[in-house]
Amino acid sequence: MEENVIVFLRGHHLISLYVFYFEGDNCLGYYSEEHEENTKNILREIIGGARIRLIVVPDSICDKCPRKETSWCQEMTAREDDKSVIAYYGFIENQTYEWSVVSQRLKERGLMW
Ligand code: SF4
Repeated sequence: MEENVIVFLRGHHLISLYVFYFEGDNCLGYYSEEHEENTKNILREIIGGARIRLIVVPDSICDKCPRKETSWCQEMTAREDDKSVIAYYGFIENQTYEWSVVSQRLKERGLMW
């Protein structure tokens, strides 16, 4: 268990987490091999028990993504999506949650998109 680790996750990556956990890691699209490896490592860390702080800025998944400098990823539209997804699942921005709470909420509310 990784209960002492906190992973910073931008809100709309809860959707990625949902798909990865409930539908399997082959259901996610990746932008490069490095992005894929990094994303899987982070999501596995969360599923392993790391706590999650929900943010509305680029996160450690974005760090290894070749698209991180594109406008959508940096601009307010992406941040609005982060906020919308955080609200949809009934969470609060910049708060930290246990994986058990997050996984239960994802299951209850299903996919937002
Ligand atoms: S940089 Fe953009 S496309 Fe890449 S993971 Fe982050 S939000 Fe997604």
